[in-house]
Amino acid sequence: MSTENNSFLSVKNIVVEYTSGGDIIHAVNDVSFDLEKGESLGLVGETGAGKTTIAKTILRILPDPPAKMIGGEVYMNGVNLTTLPEDDMRKRRGNDIAMIFQDPMTALNPLMTVGDQIVEGIQLHNKNLSRKEAEEEACKMLEMVGIARRRFVEYPHQFSGGMKQRVVIAMALACNPSLILADEPTTALDVTIQAQVLELIKDLQKKYQTSMIMITHDLGIVAETCERVAVIYAGEIVEMGTVRDVFKNPSHPYTIGLFNSLPNMVEDNARLTPIDGMPPNPAKLPKGCKFNPRCKYATDACRNKEIPVTELTPGHVCKCCNLNRGDK
Ligand code: SF4
Repeated sequence: MSTENNSFLSVKNIVVEYTSGGDIIHAVNDVSFDLEKGESLGLVGETGAGKTTIAKTILRILPDPPAKMIGGEVYMNGVNLTTLPEDDMRKRRGNDIAMIFQDPMTALNPLMTVGDQIVEGIQLHNKNLSRKEAEEEACKMLEMVGIARRRFVEYPHQFSGGMKQRVVIAMALACNPSLILADEPTTALDVTIQAQVLELIKDLQKKYQTSMIMITHDLGIVAETCERVAVIYAGEIVEMGTVRDVFKNPSHPYTIGLFNSLPNMVEDNARLTPIDGMPPNPAKLPKGCKFNPRCKYATDACRNKEIPVTELTPGHVCKCCNLNRGDK
């Protein structure tokens, strides 16, 4: 069994490609990051940037084919998940790692009561519990996410969207995972329910010291729930650091563009500035910096050379070769 460094989770140089209509889609291009126990990391970027593919690579649930991890490794508590036999990996999913998807119905069986679904998960991962004990555990989980235990016997269609997502969170936490991968968990919910569900995830994550990767396109959600953030563009991390550092001193033009496209709560009449251009076609990524066709600071070096990663302050890194630009 290979082991690697002391981080709780260590994602090293992962590269993932898809094949589609004869094209090779470069979905994840050499992504590396570490996550400590109890820490929360936001992966933020536009749709199609590769955020969900990174999470699926960690969980090893990429559809293979058409997707393939062609490089890199993922270590959890020193164990190489990339080479773990599938049976062992299956035990880790749910036991150690849980994923919360955007649409709660992808995780819920419409034909089973929510209580039975939570019990099934609990018993799958704790074979020593009797049915009665597992039911009691399931009721406690429902109460923990703010759902009365009497609703144990109800079916998913009897719950609102926000309540369904709470059930999914209860299912995800029922086995006390050490890592949660939350993929846009509140996008399908209306704004007030969104805030409640985010608060719930944050409270439970803190209470159980669970590590979390929060995938979102929304910097507000990152600020709300995460300690660190990685900004993803065209399958790469272009900037990463503590939420405090990146929000105070965003340094990659793409990160700055994301901030400029946020509504400004302080100045009501401030204009939103969308980022010019479109994300690149992942089958034909530009040479050099992948952001160069949209970047007003692009130089020949940006278009032709591999861009190095610079550490701006300890732990705050940025992949841009033009850090003395006019906007800084
Ligand atoms: Fe813009 Fe060049 Fe920096 Fe890329 S490397 S973000 S093109 S300035």
